[in-house]
Amino acid sequence: MNEQEGTHLDAAEALKFAARLTLLPKFSPHPEALSALADYLSGMIHGQEWGGRWWTAHEQAEWLIEKILSTWRFWSGPAPMRELYTSRFRVSDELLREEACQAETAATDATAVACGICRDSGTVQHDGRFEWCACGQGQSLREQLPNWLDVLNRPAVHPLPADRIRGPDASQSAFNTELRQRTIRGIAEAEDARRKAKEATH
Ligand SMILES: [Zn+2]
Repeated sequence: MNEQEGTHLDAAEALKFAARLTLLPKFSPHPEALSALADYLSGMIHGQEWGGRWWTAHEQAEWLIEKILSTWRFWSGPAPMRELYTSRFRVSDELLREEACQAETAATDATAVACGICRDSGTVQHDGRFEWCACGQGQSLREQLPNWLDVLNRPAVHPLPADRIRGPDASQSAFNTELRQRTIRGIAEAEDARRKAKEATH
């Protein structure tokens, strides 16, 4: 099959897959929830290779929904669904970009920076190495992306200049742009690492 074929789920397909999840107890019966989940599915899934062959978006969705229906006792939400999906596949770059943009917008919209040390990035540079900041943002980042520091500290990744992180004249938008790039890479790499670790144990 041509690699461009079956790259995305169309809206009707996505809605059919999402509808099958209503078989699970605790799935919200609201039509809005269903269409939101369908949107999420079509944004997350994209055609890609796995196990030496090309999987269309349709095949991946089929695998995901079947797996959920046969192993979950109740609907536990989109986050565990994504976790299951990323145990095998990689979420689309579009979704990662969108999430990074939303994170940036949320950060830009916030009128105050809660942590003056890391400026809410969750990490600080010490002797050229990134470390977790002691603040709440650092703590939650550590829980959500345990591999994040490895990603930042990898020699191939050019370190963020210290003045961009701490300097009073730092350009917030340049910083945000760089942070967004890193977030995209970081999430993708953290999910890759989780998937590889999982593969290794099977
Ligand atoms: Zn901090």
